[in-house]
Amino acid sequence: MPLVPDLLQLSTDGASITDLCRDGDLAVCQPDSQWPDRCVICNSPANGYRTPIRLSWHPTELYFLLFIPPLYMVAAIALTRSATVNVPICSQHVRRRRRSLFLSVALALTVVGSCSAGLELVPKQNFTAAVTVCLAGLTLLIAILVWTTLRSRVLEPRRIQERNVWVTCGRDFLASLPTLERPPS
Ligand SMILES: [Zn+2]
Repeated sequence: MPLVPDLLQLSTDGASITDLCRDGDLAVCQPDSQWPDRCVICNSPANGYRTPIRLSWHPTELYFLLFIPPLYMVAAIALTRSATVNVPICSQHVRRRRRSLFLSVALALTVVGSCSAGLELVPKQNFTAAVTVCLAGLTLLIAILVWTTLRSRVLEPRRIQERNVWVTCGRDFLASLPTLERPPS
């Protein structure tokens, strides 16, 4: 028995789109869902632009296994679900994502260049100073990666089961979607 019913079998309240709807504060879609031509972030016209977003998700409880990294990795590989959805984004948010990506690449190259220059200045016998420079560079690169991920994120997956994907999206966009009607239990 599937964990959730196929959304295509459920009715929605007067929607022309039957496979994209609102479930509480989340949108529910499927990989081949037809999205309305409005930005999922700000609800402005997307003018036909779509961008593929690769989403991956596993049960939140698995994070408790991070205390035992090998076990977490095995469980995450076994239980992670992925889906790619083509979502509409307006030109303003496309530009914002591109700017973030460009800035993060420029920052990462600056960090790598600075670390290389720093290592040149460190005396060869000063192992501690060399390790400190490398760790500082690595920390900055991780910070840049996290910043880029958060800044350029369009949707955040909250659950993936069967072909159904629950994601966050902009408040106005979400409000415009038909509500998911669950069959009586
Ligand atoms: Zn937008």
